[in-house]
Amino acid sequence: EAKARGRGRQVFFEAGISDRRDRAEALRTSLPQALAAGQLFLEFQPQVHVGCGTVTGAEALVRWRDAATGEVIPPALFIPILEEGDQIAELDRFVIDEACRSAASWAEAGRRLRVSVNLSPRTFQTPGLAELVAAALGRHGLTARQLEIEITEGVLLIDDVQVEANLAALAELGVRLALDDFGSGYSNIAYLMRLKPDVLKIDRSFVLEGDEHIRASIVQGILQLAETLGAETLIEGIETADQLRFVHETGCQIVQGFLFARPMAASAIPAFCGGFEAQYQLAQGTPLLQH
Ligand code: C2E
Ligand code: MG
Ligand code: MG
Ligand code: MG
Repeated sequence: EAKARGRGRQVFFEAGISDRRDRAEALRTSLPQALAAGQLFLEFQPQVHVGCGTVTGAEALVRWRDAATGEVIPPALFIPILEEGDQIAELDRFVIDEACRSAASWAEAGRRLRVSVNLSPRTFQTPGLAELVAAALGRHGLTARQLEIEITEGVLLIDDVQVEANLAALAELGVRLALDDFGSGYSNIAYLMRLKPDVLKIDRSFVLEGDEHIRASIVQGILQLAETLGAETLIEGIETADQLRFVHETGCQIVQGFLFARPMAASAIPAFCGGFEAQYQLAQGTPLLQH
């Protein structure tokens, strides 16, 4: 009987896997049309300075709206599929262009905000990244400092001269470099010092469960490292007022998380900025930090 159940489970798993493969295959083949049909789009999550009460920038996060079902597919589901083929390059080109277009639209609405983009590690191994970025900045009339490129620690572990050449060319161009999910992987500290990131984005795991003293001293250690490197710091994934208080007590001032805003359409960003600043002024400080 147990054996029968076991066989049932196996069949279930096999069906699951082939289902996922079918779906992956469908996603893979439909990307070009999806891009052309505008099914891929960006949402933007504001980054706020809780000391100054200002919005410092917004991170672009890609989504795919499946035309057949209307369902929104999160990046974790389709990015790995695209990374298996060459289509990730096409996605990254789209993301860079669309993020720059959005930042230009905010500037037109009187909000000169920085925009951050996430690129696939593979893209850093492809020649011509800085030229691609420079062309997008030019098309939309942005200065290099208005764009930030997020790099995961994994990129720094790729042993490839092309990665170093791209990062050097991007730094030369003047775009900001952010180290994403910092502390969640392995950082090559020597490389970190050569890269001179503009921002360390501290991983949200440091605001989650665990001994608060230990977490606080790790975060403070990271803040000190950042100061030594001349980098800013931001903590991501703030969901509760308690987490915000914890972050505030460690001395980190720039945060991103559902407590302030969920990722939203580009067109909603200027109004969010106005609302955030008005609330801050009304409360004479971050309202969420009161009491
Ligand atoms: P990430 O770069 O670390 O992005 C932050 C993720 O955390 C986003 O998920 C965001 O929606 C989520 N998040 C923000 N605030 C909170 C919070 O308070 N609580 C929780 N639980 N989550 C929060 P998302 O949009 O699903 O993106 C997941 C990952 O997919 C990103 O992680 C990034 O690595 C990747 N990704 C997103 N957009 C792109 C893209 O355009 N290109 C590439 N190559 N990767 C992307
Ligand atoms: Mg990111
Ligand atoms: Mg992150
Ligand atoms: Mg993260």
